[in-house]
Amino acid sequence: MSRINAHYLDLPGSYLFAEIARRVQEHGARDPQKRVIRLGIGDVTAPLPPSVISALHQAVDEQARQEGFRGYGPEQGYAFLREAIVRDAYQGLGIDPDDVFIGDGAKEDLGNFQEIFDQGCLVAITDPVYPVYADSNVMAGRAGPADSLGRFQGLIYLPCTADNNFRPDLPRRRPDLIYLCYPNNPTGAVLSRDDLARWVGYAREQDCVIFYDAAYEAYITEPGIPRSIYEIPGAREVAVEFRSYSKTAGFTGLRCGFAVVPSSVRGRGPGNALVPLRDLWLRRQTTKYNGCPYIIQRAAEATHTPQGKKETRAIIAGYQENARRIREGFQTLGLTVSGGVNAPYVWVRLPTGLDSWGFFDALLNRLGIAGTPGVGFGPSGEGHFRLTGFGTSADTQEAMERLKGFNI
Ligand SMILES: *Cc1c(COP(=O)(O)O)cnc(C)c1O
Repeated sequence: MSRINAHYLDLPGSYLFAEIARRVQEHGARDPQKRVIRLGIGDVTAPLPPSVISALHQAVDEQARQEGFRGYGPEQGYAFLREAIVRDAYQGLGIDPDDVFIGDGAKEDLGNFQEIFDQGCLVAITDPVYPVYADSNVMAGRAGPADSLGRFQGLIYLPCTADNNFRPDLPRRRPDLIYLCYPNNPTGAVLSRDDLARWVGYAREQDCVIFYDAAYEAYITEPGIPRSIYEIPGAREVAVEFRSYSKTAGFTGLRCGFAVVPSSVRGRGPGNALVPLRDLWLRRQTTKYNGCPYIIQRAAEATHTPQGKKETRAIIAGYQENARRIREGFQTLGLTVSGGVNAPYVWVRLPTGLDSWGFFDALLNRLGIAGTPGVGFGPSGEGHFRLTGFGTSADTQEAMERLKGFNI
């Protein structure tokens, strides 16, 4: 008999979105007349922008010709894309194209990056949170079993609630690794420059590494909010940044993202020797990964051109308008909402005593609207509900029509 990695058995049994799908399906069977509007999904709905499509066509046609054919590419990604990224997003921030690693998406990179750290590392995550950070560390054996609230005993939780304006306080106990995601999924909160500088200062002082998930950077509309952690002086020694083309350019199906690993970010090796994380990540990628497809990297490159940026900005503006409508709709009911300004996510605070699955069922069964219960993102998400601006404009408007006069 082959023994399994028993840490997998510590993972929560029913994945949040599977449970939502089950309830939506059950509702559909009971009430086939009412079309369910899904405002819970974290997937985009707008088609790919024209410059991406034309870059794809061109790259496909190249593959039909002897001189244009590409086989295995560089594991780290083609230089044309790494250079375009640095030119477009990291100008003046001291990031080199060699620090950029192209991958199949931020979920993959965020899930895998912990591999280059010791199993004994202590991990801090915000609560509520994107599930990948916790689950990948559960699989690696860093989290231990969960308690009855689904809280893993071996992780440090940083509650993000209305009391702290959904911005986590510094941990009381020193973690080795800290996951931060801003603009935030699910709360839609952002960190100011001072907030983020406090985290960078803490990581420098305490010798921690920050995993900074900037998947929603393109949704920032307010001035002064940092788009990259490298805008904070000193971050280049303590932070790895993850970005994705999924929510910015509709690549949820195409798959492309990247990690920025400056050579100055280091961990501790035997005898406390400093080891650049970039060397380890390069070794990991060259061993386990053969690179993102050439045609996809050409498509990603197109989003960094002036025309591509114009097109993606227009799509994002549409999602932001949806988020604005959702905010307005729930505010009109007298509920307190946050997010939805620098993020596609609107975080609704439920009246005292209402739990988030109960509200989910009420909204689904009475109005045919599916959202996401806050508790699905962690214990501190209880009493909250997430809606996304990623639906179509027509669906979002219809949902807000149905919501009018809803008696909670
Ligand atoms: C959607 C999302 C990602 C990335 O998705 P990919 O499609 O894997 O690039 C990363 N982090 C958060 C918080 C997300 O919501």
